Amino acid sequence: MAFGRRSGEVNQPWRLSAKLLIISSVVTVIGFSTICAGVLLDMRRGEEALAHQTLENLAATIDSDISRNLELYDLSLRAVVSGMVMPEIQDVSKPIRQLILFDHAATARDFGALQVFDAEGRLTIDASTLNPAPENRSDEDYFKVHRDQPDTGLYISRPMLHRGAYAVVLSRRITGADGRFLGVVVGSIRFSYFHDLFGRLSLGPADTITVLRRDGTIIMRTPFDLDLIGKNISYVPGVKRTLSEPSGWYSGKSVVDGKQRLYIWRDSSHPLVVLVGKPWSSIFDLWRTEAIRIGTTMMALVAFVLAATLFLAREIGRRAKAEDRLEEMATTDALTGLKNRRKFDSMIDIEWRRAIRQKAPIALLMIDADHFKAYNDAFGHQAGDQVLVGVAICISDSVRRAGDCAARYGGEEFAVLLPGLSSTEALAVAETIRLKVELWSDQPQGTTVSIGIASLRPAATIDWSELLSAADKALYAAKAQGRNRSVVASIPKLTLVA
Ligand code: GH3
Ligand code: MG
Ligand code: MG
Repeated sequence: MAFGRRSGEVNQPWRLSAKLLIISSVVTVIGFSTICAGVLLDMRRGEEALAHQTLENLAATIDSDISRNLELYDLSLRAVVSGMVMPEIQDVSKPIRQLILFDHAATARDFGALQVFDAEGRLTIDASTLNPAPENRSDEDYFKVHRDQPDTGLYISRPMLHRGAYAVVLSRRITGADGRFLGVVVGSIRFSYFHDLFGRLSLGPADTITVLRRDGTIIMRTPFDLDLIGKNISYVPGVKRTLSEPSGWYSGKSVVDGKQRLYIWRDSSHPLVVLVGKPWSSIFDLWRTEAIRIGTTMMALVAFVLAATLFLAREIGRRAKAEDRLEEMATTDALTGLKNRRKFDSMIDIEWRRAIRQKAPIALLMIDADHFKAYNDAFGHQAGDQVLVGVAICISDSVRRAGDCAARYGGEEFAVLLPGLSSTEALAVAETIRLKVELWSDQPQGTTVSIGIASLRPAATIDWSELLSAADKALYAAKAQGRNRSVVASIPKLTLVA
């Protein structure tokens, strides 16, 4: 009895655990993958933030260097402008005039000497010499701009060849006290200044630095390409923003090499705007390597876990089937295919308790072959076995409801449990079996069975053995009354169900 119940309980968890194993493996794999993906995304965001910070610092450094030098140089230009409008300046000697005008002039290597041109564009004063050679710059943009537009202020020219070197020319208008155009003062910043400045920075191979004039003209760019210098790229949407917003970033395709870059600019209020760019591919270079490494390892682990899970699940399934077969073998009678005594005991126990809970009747048939010893003696043990198989078929043919249990109880004795049946209903079933056996058996000494029937409504105080012994007694009565008959037990002290 205990075995049957335990084996029933063991079977379910085995099956459950295969499912549970798969579910827990899948949940674990999904959980780990999610964590992994989260970490990788965080790393990616970290790389992006770092690139932003690095480029911002780079842009700020370059911008402050250029702005400071421009400012200093502009101060020199302003000093010349204010000197030139002093009436006394015309009366002093040339060396004194040089001293007065160019006292503050920048003398750095990359900054050209200041020159003053009169209202007709003729060179009148040159900081580098007391007797400059005649020159006329009236055709140059910087001259025309100041002559035609008095409010220009500091004018930065397009990059050009100026006095033998590539440079941008810086100029200011000299205006007389009466507002008359008196000429321009001109200086220059050579490209070498930018080359030196960019050369001091450590840049990635595809990083770019672009210095733009406020109208979008490229003043300088690294990597250096002479063809790009002087080009206007204000039509590029990102550059348009660069020139109109004080600071910010954009992601865009370079018009030069087509690479997608992160571009950052700082403080575009200055006369020259610095735009630094870094390709996204190089920003995520390290991250990509790491992501591939972690991703591959993760995928290999996931594949391994899933494969191991499937293998184990299959193994568990196989074992569950084997258990089922063992269970079947352990509960089935080998000769007749009916349930064996052990299974019957466990079934009656379960059904008895169910009947108590449901306050329902439960019926039992005890079936015994008549004169079977004689049959064996007459036809042999093997023929007797065939008869037992035939009786078993007659019984199982008549007992088909789900809760019914037909078992071989011992040698030539069978028991049939019929939950929910009253003794009248059980008697009907018994008669069906008895008549079937009688009809089926066509030997001269026909095999018959005697059947004892008991049915009662169980209570917690009664044991199921009472039902068994009642049916047994009825069987004896049937034998005593001449065999091949069904007898219903009458047990006065128990509640019989009529
Ligand atoms: P009755 O029940 O009608 O009173 O007479 P019986 O001859 O059937 O009763 P008894 O209990 O004396 O004999 C039972 C016989 O059943 C004994 C045995 O030869 C036979 N028997 C028990 N188990 C098997 C079995 O597995 N195979 C065969 N062939 N015979 C069996
Ligand atoms: Mg017997
Ligand atoms: Mg018998």
